Amino acid sequence: MKLLKIASLLSALTLAVGALSAKPIAGPKGGRVVTTEAPHVEFFVEKDRTVAVTFYDAALKPVAPGAQMVTVIAEARSGKAQFALEKLATGFASKQPLPAGDEYTVVLQVRDAAGAKPKNYRILFHDEICKECKRAEYACICDDAGHEEHKK
Ligand SMILES: [Zn+2]
Repeated sequence: MKLLKIASLLSALTLAVGALSAKPIAGPKGGRVVTTEAPHVEFFVEKDRTVAVTFYDAALKPVAPGAQMVTVIAEARSGKAQFALEKLATGFASKQPLPAGDEYTVVLQVRDAAGAKPKNYRILFHDEICKECKRAEYACICDDAGHEEHKK
């Protein structure tokens, strides 16, 4: 009896740890948070398909960008498009929309300052809305099991 209890306790613990590590952070704007530690970086695609990138502190409060520079490389099937994002008071925005199509990789390059080595974050861009969390598929916060369903 005692052994059984320990076993079920152990599996409950394993489940809890698994759920914690798999849970992505929900981007406050509805985008995808690509970082696991602050300062957080959120990748968000506006309705007109331009890209907005916002930085947040650990409490997910927006922070003003410093000397950072952000570049987006869209690896669309129609061809690769690369554009630098413009710095605004609360983050970065692209003037150019993402290329047409869906289901391609977008590389978000963040430099701490001009000339610094970039940090690359790869995002699989999906245009559709996730049925479960009602967020854009590229920003889905469902666990992996839920996510599998939406993959084509
Ligand atoms: Zn979802």
